[in-house]
Amino acid sequence: MSEKEPLNPFDDIQKRLDEALRRSGMGVPRPEGPGAASGAVSGVEDAPAQDDQGAVLEKIRTFNLKPREIRDYLSRFVIGQDEAKKVLSVAVCDHYNHVRQCLEDPKAASKDYQKQNVILLGPTGSGKTYLMRCIARLIGVPFVKADATKFSETGYVGADVEDLVRDLNKLAGGNTDLAEYGIVYIDEIDKIASAQGMQGRDVSGRGVQINLLKLMEEAEVNLFSPTDMMSQMQAMMDMGRGGRPRRRSMSTRHILFIVSGAFDRLAESVKKRVESAAVGFGAERGDRDEAEDLSRYLAHVETPDFVKYGFEPEFIGRLPVRVACEALGVEDLAKILTTSEGSLLDQYRLDFKGYGIDFAMTPEAVMEIARRAHREGTGARGLMTVFEKVFRDFKFELPSTAIKSFEVTTSTIAAPQKALKALILENKHLQEGVLRADIRAYEARFKVENGIEIVFDDAACTALVEKSAEKDQSIRALCEALFKDMGHALAIVSRNTDRTNFPLGAEFVTDTDKALSKLVTESFGRQGGTPCTRDSSGVA
Ligand code: ADP
Repeated sequence: MSEKEPLNPFDDIQKRLDEALRRSGMGVPRPEGPGAASGAVSGVEDAPAQDDQGAVLEKIRTFNLKPREIRDYLSRFVIGQDEAKKVLSVAVCDHYNHVRQCLEDPKAASKDYQKQNVILLGPTGSGKTYLMRCIARLIGVPFVKADATKFSETGYVGADVEDLVRDLNKLAGGNTDLAEYGIVYIDEIDKIASAQGMQGRDVSGRGVQINLLKLMEEAEVNLFSPTDMMSQMQAMMDMGRGGRPRRRSMSTRHILFIVSGAFDRLAESVKKRVESAAVGFGAERGDRDEAEDLSRYLAHVETPDFVKYGFEPEFIGRLPVRVACEALGVEDLAKILTTSEGSLLDQYRLDFKGYGIDFAMTPEAVMEIARRAHREGTGARGLMTVFEKVFRDFKFELPSTAIKSFEVTTSTIAAPQKALKALILENKHLQEGVLRADIRAYEARFKVENGIEIVFDDAACTALVEKSAEKDQSIRALCEALFKDMGHALAIVSRNTDRTNFPLGAEFVTDTDKALSKLVTESFGRQGGTPCTRDSSGVA
């Protein structure tokens, strides 16, 4: 028998179980392979491809990056945040150097080594996640991100913090050795400060902090979650097969934990403390706005500030590296567009390039976008909001036009729809050619699908172009709707008359049904394959 034996007999059960859970609204999304973005709790995941995993492990065993090299790599993508780049580069080098030393000589490596877990403070959209994601990409380790608010102490109400570690393993495609060097990023940590209260939930932020601190230090996490029935079954199956069972647990000893949050309230209280201690600290605010000004104070946060805010001293103690990212100003946002590798501007260029369209942006337009994005108050995320507004209709309309390049100016940003209309009008003379090419493409598809050649004559083409404008429909959709019965009708005519080539006149567009029935009716009078002369209407 050539029939393949299913690789995993539980696949079918798993599919059915997932489907049933999904329908009941209880489903837990699961990654479908290495790098699949669907971990149990995490919102962002990156993982090296399975082929590269061996190379990544070797890179970790021989880790030799210098802090400056990491900083320089980060600077290709992340604008500003110089202090954060420096501190993170050092912390990451220390962490992976220690990992290497442990691998080289497990006995020699200090048991008392304190892990370089990091707390990143700073407003939303300032690049906190981006920095860590770039670092994970540089080293090649899996990276998971989740919001602290999703967790509960028991894992009964919300997710279990250990799920994050299991997610790393899933992302590494079950390569637990690699997962053990991954990076876990937990955002919105400021929301689980217990002083803020977690009323309404049966568990406290304090409990989550305690669970997290155990993980951050060193813990052995069961890879088969007690709440994940499928992984339990998989474990049983592994054992039943008699082969080498997969690892049942993984250690968090070498996992780098990063926690982050905006800490607005904390910035305000530090501001008060700093200002009362040193008069004049906040005096030179220059052209910074309030948010930018406030974010500067996060660099002065001390342990007692965190404790007062509602963090357990032991929890904060496990986060020795503290870094603040500053709010991005208008100039920073403009720089992100013009100098950051893989910026949103590059992304949009690539999107348009997909249709063979190029665009240029004047420096004034870049500044105007940056100003508008800044007003959004969501850091670099504001750029996305402004881009979406400016380019929405361009992205929809231009691919169906003959326009292959355009320029974005300040007037485009002020009134995108007006600018788009003017652009289309300017290029109207080219549009007819594009639409006619779409008609030729439909004729070619028709031939492939029906084995019958159709050719719309000039008048028919003009009628189609007019109708597509009138109905605001693409030529493709219009033809597919108008001529949905044509294949069948022409097949009858072809059978009756032996004709395989049909020139079609305007009446096939203006009154399709009538023209087709006429053709079919007449063909019955000519059964037997009488050769016919063809006129432009296609009626012999
Ligand atoms: P947060 O500080 O809330 O974690 P992110 O790092 O997720 O913000 O930023 C969202 C997106 O904005 C990033 O994916 C990146 O594209 C862009 N971005 C944010 N900050 C910067 C920066 N300083 N330089 C370049 N791009 C940035």
